[in-house]
Amino acid sequence: MQLQSKKSFAMVDYAKCNPKQCDPETGKCPAVKACTHKVLTQIDGAFEPPVVFQDMCMGCWDCIEACPLEAIEMKHLT
Ligand code: SF4
Ligand code: SF4
Repeated sequence: MQLQSKKSFAMVDYAKCNPKQCDPETGKCPAVKACTHKVLTQIDGAFEPPVVFQDMCMGCWDCIEACPLEAIEMKHLT
């Protein structure tokens, strides 16, 4: 039996990420909402940048498409 290999995962660029700009009213990250796998979470609460649990990331790109500031990028392991 072979474990499924995980080759890509999302990474937040904290220099670009700005939850206040994405949602001035509630501070909720739209990319977190888009991550149906619940891998991306605002662990420190609203108005704080989200964190990716990389081990569980499916590399599906949904968060990247949902982030208006292009603050999430995909990392590829070689
Ligand atoms: S959508 Fe992008 S820029 Fe906005 S809070 Fe989420 S990760 Fe940061
Ligand atoms: S790539 Fe997919 S699974 Fe990974 S954090 Fe983004 S939305 Fe979630």
